[in-house]
Amino acid sequence: MTGAITEKGEPLLEVKGLSAGYGGMPVLNDISLKVYPAEIVALVGSNGAGKTTLLRALSRVISSTGEIVMNHKNLAPMTPDQAFAVGLVQVPEGRQLFDRMTVQDNLLMGAFQRNEKAAVARDLEKMYALFPKLSERRRQLAGSMSGGEQQMCAMARGMMAAPVLLMIDEMSLGLAPVIVEQLMEVLTTIRNEGATVLLVEQDVNLALSGADRGYVMETGRIVHSGLAKELIDDPEVRRAYLGL
Ligand code: ATP
Repeated sequence: MTGAITEKGEPLLEVKGLSAGYGGMPVLNDISLKVYPAEIVALVGSNGAGKTTLLRALSRVISSTGEIVMNHKNLAPMTPDQAFAVGLVQVPEGRQLFDRMTVQDNLLMGAFQRNEKAAVARDLEKMYALFPKLSERRRQLAGSMSGGEQQMCAMARGMMAAPVLLMIDEMSLGLAPVIVEQLMEVLTTIRNEGATVLLVEQDVNLALSGADRGYVMETGRIVHSGLAKELIDDPEVRRAYLGL
């Protein structure tokens, strides 16, 4: 397995001093983080820590103060559509597939903003190679598949958008450990091919086991950050999140 080039060169995503909330109620406070090209970064923390709110701010669904720069582009003034168009792609919590459409049509929906037909067709075959289950079920309605297959479909749909940064919210939610392991292997494969992933998880152990670096959030702040393997060994992280 090729390791990611961690913390070298310029970050792909740099967030500085980000604060946000809902209707005047502050939730995120002075968040700073970096994601480098071709790494998997885990953003972990317990229920209500503000992880989803941070994803919403990054994808510009909610407004925020502070800086968000991705690939030399200032995302702060952008709408969600504009942020998507420059490559910030989110795989939402709960998958949110088009249930009454086939797997293949869901995947093609991910590529709706791309007009290079040959590249889209190539990427579709690449998704089927990454997820053979989806290949078998390409004509099946997405809503009729198991939770694990639906998560595969949601991740493949996100990748079909040719993301600069793929953000995945609660990938493991409701899935059997063996499936989650397979999904994590796929993330490692695409990372080794150059993809950059921000993985948001309540399952701290899972996320830190599969990531290169991690950030731990607590009540709207980043309280720990570092190499994932160091965070897993950090006594405070172990006590607070791993029940050890
Ligand atoms: P979870 O894993 O449970 O989603 P989280 O870390 O993603 O947790 P958030 O969903 O970001 O946490 O929630 C952070 C805080 O913001 C919580 O106190 C929550 O009640 C509040 N919050 C979330 N969404 C809204 C909303 N739409 N309106 C008002 N407050 C909200």
